[in-house]
Amino acid sequence: MNHDELRHWSKIAADWAHDYHLDLRDRPVRARTPRNAIRDALPPKAPELPESMEEIWADFNRLIPQGMTHWQHPRFFAYFPANAAPVSMLAEQLVNAMACQGMIWQTSPAATEVEQAMMVWLREALGLPDRFTGTIHDSATTATLSAVLTMRERALNWHGLQAGLSGMPVLRLYTSGETHSSVDKAARVAGIGQQNLVKIPTDDSLSMRPDLLEAAIAADRAAGMMPAGVILCVGGTSVGAFDHVAELIAVAKEAGLPVHVDAAWAGSAMICPEFRLLWEGIEGADSVVFNPHKWLGAQFDCAVQFIANPHEQIKTLGLRPSYLETPDQDEVVNFNEWTVPLGRRFRALKLWFLLRAHGLEDLRNRIRNHVNWSRQLCALLSELPDLEIVTAPALSLFTFAHRDGEAATLDLLSRINDDGRVYLTQTRHQDRLVIRVQVGQFDCTEEDVMMVHTVLSELLE
Ligand code: PLP
Repeated sequence: MNHDELRHWSKIAADWAHDYHLDLRDRPVRARTPRNAIRDALPPKAPELPESMEEIWADFNRLIPQGMTHWQHPRFFAYFPANAAPVSMLAEQLVNAMACQGMIWQTSPAATEVEQAMMVWLREALGLPDRFTGTIHDSATTATLSAVLTMRERALNWHGLQAGLSGMPVLRLYTSGETHSSVDKAARVAGIGQQNLVKIPTDDSLSMRPDLLEAAIAADRAAGMMPAGVILCVGGTSVGAFDHVAELIAVAKEAGLPVHVDAAWAGSAMICPEFRLLWEGIEGADSVVFNPHKWLGAQFDCAVQFIANPHEQIKTLGLRPSYLETPDQDEVVNFNEWTVPLGRRFRALKLWFLLRAHGLEDLRNRIRNHVNWSRQLCALLSELPDLEIVTAPALSLFTFAHRDGEAATLDLLSRINDDGRVYLTQTRHQDRLVIRVQVGQFDCTEEDVMMVHTVLSELLE
């Protein structure tokens, strides 16, 4: 394909995208494809000779769309959203067209500088103080790994980077059981080890208990271990738990430990000042991650990490081999030095387009609607005699179960998803299987949300 043909097919693809989104509501949200059907429909080997674009396009249409779970479906209430505002898709198309790689300032100055500006725009939008600067990662998992690696090296006074962990003191991290599994992964990958990620019990509000955090740090020190950092949860994935940030940061600071906050989902809601109570004290954190690709509307992938002292992270992750050196390297920001991968996509462009085309007020209204509709839906479901609300809405996430127990809850969930009009997923909360409902699709309407009630009423009849 040459660029003339690319233009031709791009127009066809744009029309296809328009029509795809137009009738999304008519499609089942979750894919119904039998296991391996798509893989088995593909030839076992790559072709030796070129195939026509017409054939490739026909096969795409025949095989792919029905093999997709539709994340942009307005009645996708599973997991957390991966919202893609149309304008952020447009920005991604432009990034694709340039196919740039922004590993250092020199390789794409605009990518670096728009990213710097967007970090300031988002910091202000979320009400964070200007002690934070930031960068964009592919995922919250990578951001948390970067923060944990920095905690590790800070604790070891940056000796681990050279010497490895053999013979080093046993490092300890502290979090609660409500925090996302990306923290477990970070402890594993950073060589700290899952067993040294201490899960501090939570109180009735699902916040880590500060007294137990303090006691665990003291006990570990007394036993000769080396506490390295605390990871807090602002909007847990399972049921939307919120740690009491101010109190817990106070304990960590008293113990001389850095704090990373995982607000991957709930961070977007902080553009609404009325929700900021939920992370009161956040200004004392050392690192905060939130995913604009979840609730805000920036097409996947886009995870923002705000960092109070980037020099510690740069000291941990930054390398300057001679082939990456530039004469101005001390005057510019080379964002690869802040993150694990060297290569970087131009992710800031979609933030720039999104924030300008919608304005913060429109983005706030969407999130406020989601929270209100989630509360209304929860109230309606609480009136269905077979159902019990297990956790009340935390922002726009709540859970429920069938009163007849786990088998009935599982059966109900599979009937909901086989029906196809809405998509919900499960979690386990305090040893009980529950069904999660999160309201957060960029273009969902009140009617879409209330469809969960319609489907459940019909299925339970
Ligand atoms: N933290 C929370 C609270 C999440 O809900 C998720 C994913 O849903 C993650 C972290 C991991 O996000 P990512 O897929 O960007 O690594």
